[in-house]
Amino acid sequence: MIILMRSTAPGEDLDRVVREAEAAGLRAQVVEASGRPAVVLSGGDPVDPARFESLPGVVQVVPGAAPWRLAAREARPEGTVVRVGDVALGGGDCVVLAGPCAVESERQLLETAQLVKQAGARLLRGGAFKPRTSPYSFEGLGLAGLRLLARARQETGLPIVTEALDETSLSQVEEVADLIQIGTRNMHNAGLLRRAARTGKPILLKRGMAATLEELLMAAEYILAEGNRNVVLCERGIRTFSRHSRYTLDLSIVPAVHEASHLPIVVDPSHATGRRDRVAPMSRAALAAGADGLLLEVHPSPERSRSDGPQALLPAQFSALMQELRALAGALDRGREVAR
Ligand code: PEP
Ligand code: MN
Repeated sequence: MIILMRSTAPGEDLDRVVREAEAAGLRAQVVEASGRPAVVLSGGDPVDPARFESLPGVVQVVPGAAPWRLAAREARPEGTVVRVGDVALGGGDCVVLAGPCAVESERQLLETAQLVKQAGARLLRGGAFKPRTSPYSFEGLGLAGLRLLARARQETGLPIVTEALDETSLSQVEEVADLIQIGTRNMHNAGLLRRAARTGKPILLKRGMAATLEELLMAAEYILAEGNRNVVLCERGIRTFSRHSRYTLDLSIVPAVHEASHLPIVVDPSHATGRRDRVAPMSRAALAAGADGLLLEVHPSPERSRSDGPQALLPAQFSALMQELRALAGALDRGREVAR
């Protein structure tokens, strides 16, 4: 951050800015910029520019280098490609990760795994540990669910993405998952992010439902700072005043992430909209916006689903959507993955 001062600002105004910066834990260096004094701030945690804007002698506060050092685009201008098995996320194509919200039974999971594979999905999703709004709702099959996921991978060859809720479930999830999911409710859980990073496995980091782009990238920074470079971000809808949709899908974050960071970003229109009839239009829009992948919930009989039934695509809807995505991806020259 650079604080531009009035050319006539007395020394005491400069001293005041320096003291304020040091009180905020920043390093302050007085320089000359275009013939005027300026104070360059570095180090420390991000500070609200408003803290300096109202000080005497200050003309303008110019935000400086991004606080997410490792996640910043400049750290890897060519972009990160996260490899999960033989699947590449961030390589330019749009990869589909699909499956049920929760693993409910052997039959439900294996049937869904086969059908999403046949339709062209490259990863199988399914929660064994489910974060629920109510403590009385189905919280997943736990370890038994993980075993079924491992079995589905064996039968289909699809790598598995599944969520770790806390450090206890993480120690089980890391044994099975090819891509470890950190859900929206845990995006700010620094301890879990660090612990997940240390598994060395790729991490799917979902945006907190009230998190800014900056907060999402800082959460990713926790993982990168542990030496794990394989982070895939996920936009899954944010809380707004809109009531026509479960959350508001913020597709504008896709190009914003691509500009600010080298990390790939996938889009989850299932949780964002909460309605299966909205999933296809938002999937097409996400692909067109440049998403590196789509996370989609599919269920062979959603009316019997134990979680998120209303947003689960029926098998035929999923196949139809995959065909549409293939045509669209071909037109956008991003077709190799969805075309498989
Ligand atoms: C999920 O993908 O299974 C899930 C619970 O999503 P979110 O954390 O985005 O609510
Ligand atoms: Mn769900």
